[in-house]
Amino acid sequence: MKLEHIGIAVKDIEASNELFGTLFNSPHYKTEGVESEGVLTSFFAVGESKIELLQATNEDSAIHKFIEKKGEGIHHLAFEVVDIDFELDRLTKEGFVLIHQTPKDGADNKRIAFLHPKSTNSVLVELCQEKA
Ligand code: ZN
Repeated sequence: MKLEHIGIAVKDIEASNELFGTLFNSPHYKTEGVESEGVLTSFFAVGESKIELLQATNEDSAIHKFIEKKGEGIHHLAFEVVDIDFELDRLTKEGFVLIHQTPKDGADNKRIAFLHPKSTNSVLVELCQEKA
């Protein structure tokens, strides 16, 4: 596995694009909505990993609920795997609790699935695999 990206929940993605663009001295390279999740995302390349900013687009969005509860900040860590179906099966057998039993479409041309933070020391973990 490699750390593919870190997801950060933000209230105002435009303002945060400015902020992180200044921090990295390099602008975000794409913006993408994921309608099924009610989020707008933007991506920054940082070395071999990425930073994904996430802004809720409706009140049912998990990002809206996260910010209500905890405020802005680090939301999840995403690890890239070679075979996401195999890994979900393996982790289920190891006793991890999955939020998604089967992978779904995520941003950035990926198949993704989240593990429940109750089985990962309260860290929300995303597994992702580049779509062929
Ligand atoms: Zn992510």
